[in-house]
Amino acid sequence: MNQLDVSEDVYGVSRWGKGLITKLPNGDVGLMDPLHPETPAISLPEIISDLENRGIASPMVLRISSFLEHEIRQINESFGEAIKRVGYKAPYRGVFPIKVNQQAQVVDRIVEYGRPYSYGLEAGSKPELVVALAYDLPKEALIVCNGVKDAEFIRLAILSRMIGFNTVIVLESPKEAETVIQVSRELGVDPLLGVRVKLTHRIGGKWQESSGDRSTFGMNTDQLLQVVDRLRDVGLLHCLKLQHSHLGSQVPDVHDVRHAASEACRYFTALCEEGAPLTHLDLGGGLGVDYTGEKRSAENSINYTVEEYCTNVVETVAYAMDDAGLDHPVLVTESGRAVSATSSMLIFDVLEATLYDGPDAPAVEPEDHHYISDLSAVSGYLVPDRVQECWNDATFYRDELRALFRRGAVDLRQMARAERIYLSLISRIKALARSMEDTGDLDMQLEQVADVYHCNFSLFQSLPDVWAIDQMHPIVPLQMLNQAPDRRAVLSDITCDSDGKVDKFILSEGMSPSLPVHSLPEEGRYYLGVFFVGAYQETLGDLHNLFGDTNVVTISLNPDGGFELLHEQEGDTISQVLSYVEYDPNDCVAAFRKMVDSAVTKGRVDSKQRRQLMSAYKDSLAGYTYFE
Ligand SMILES: *Cc1c(COP(=O)(O)O)cnc(C)c1O
Repeated sequence: MNQLDVSEDVYGVSRWGKGLITKLPNGDVGLMDPLHPETPAISLPEIISDLENRGIASPMVLRISSFLEHEIRQINESFGEAIKRVGYKAPYRGVFPIKVNQQAQVVDRIVEYGRPYSYGLEAGSKPELVVALAYDLPKEALIVCNGVKDAEFIRLAILSRMIGFNTVIVLESPKEAETVIQVSRELGVDPLLGVRVKLTHRIGGKWQESSGDRSTFGMNTDQLLQVVDRLRDVGLLHCLKLQHSHLGSQVPDVHDVRHAASEACRYFTALCEEGAPLTHLDLGGGLGVDYTGEKRSAENSINYTVEEYCTNVVETVAYAMDDAGLDHPVLVTESGRAVSATSSMLIFDVLEATLYDGPDAPAVEPEDHHYISDLSAVSGYLVPDRVQECWNDATFYRDELRALFRRGAVDLRQMARAERIYLSLISRIKALARSMEDTGDLDMQLEQVADVYHCNFSLFQSLPDVWAIDQMHPIVPLQMLNQAPDRRAVLSDITCDSDGKVDKFILSEGMSPSLPVHSLPEEGRYYLGVFFVGAYQETLGDLHNLFGDTNVVTISLNPDGGFELLHEQEGDTISQVLSYVEYDPNDCVAAFRKMVDSAVTKGRVDSKQRRQLMSAYKDSLAGYTYFE
């Protein structure tokens, strides 16, 4: 038999790694430079150790600008190629939805990398429009304004046209149209308008609620006509240039892309018949990321590539417009996830492990309850054929003994002996199960006794979608991938919340409730990486237990095989986090000092202890919220 290839056979790295994540000969996880595929991969643990030498500690979010540049090139060039192949007669002008990753470091780079493609921005709120208008965008680039808008939002959008921005106000309702009509009259400037159409086609996947009849956004046919008629009445119909519809996020099945696009085209041609001079068709977001690498229509996977998505869109629109005898509109999409997800990873180390095993079983004492000798006797028939029976029996005796302990029939020392015997049985059962091909249901049952690896991160701050909507991300140890993992663990974060754990993992064999891991090394840290966290994770996080933002580092991969540190953003200090929840750190120091001084007055604390107390308090305020 071939030797086990841990990165492939256990973690399936090349399935989900998108050619960006790989394993190096020394067992480290390596990063490939997609912009220079001939350059050898660079070791991720070496990058981390280099950063730590510079004083940048984990947990950290590591952003790889080369990955982001690659994704921007990929979507723009894939549309470009599909347009050429299909003979489509208008360009693609994508926009990046700021809500997907609002971090200035990310948006700055998206604008920079998107410049050659006249790539624009999508703003779903007033603050996002303010951000978009701070960029000197290419002449042809769009700013698409979605979401509910007030007069102030609309005023800024209209006025921005005076300095050359192509800011499109996408009308979400007839009421919004009235505000636009009023504001543009006041200003004496014509707006650039879009209408958001509610498609009836419902897509599958996690975000089906955001599509179809019951979606909260967009107008139905009746409202659309009201708006068109009203714009015509007030002489503004010539401003209506764009039709927008959003399929929802992470569309799993490419058929839905075609169906939704063709329904959108039907509205487009119908609105043109009504006299709307539409020139742009915006199909919103929805292009998915194959987080699991399964390549199928499933919640965390997709059954298509970026190229296929682009071809499907371009082809569908071309046919529909040709049939209707209309010019091909400029194609717009608002892909967020597919552009930014792969470029960030979360890196943390394991602080300690709670192991569910025991090397030695203590001897049964004469005074022990007979269930303890029954438990001990299980080891006598622990053979492959009876391993399930052994698990059943051991767990039964252990549970009975716990009940007896609660009633006072078994004392603390007996109970401790029983637990140790049980744990030593569990280690042997786990070892035996690992060596067997088929263990039936036992694998599932053994998850109850998986080890717990306590990790230096907060799920609520750094992986909110994992907590809230069961989003899956590939998670792997970043080192030792030449050695077979000898344990299985669930990951627990450092918040005091039983929800703060990860217990669903992407493995080559499929989803698993535990992650194969190595025994923690005697020396050096054991790092884990959570991949593809660049979309939606960075600003949704909350301050559970007052764990704040992690350190964030942006690097680019060099063609010569090294990396360059582009930007470093220090994580929150305790003092910063306290001010977010309205504490004044100076007041906290003053209040603490008052209590210390009163203890000094009473003679309970001397002046040296006073100094110690005050500096411990102040050092904590200035420190990182995570383990240092
Ligand atoms: C969220 C959102 C997007 C981005 O969707 P992705 O699936 O991340 O590409 C685009 N447009 C609108 C209107 C959105 O609300």
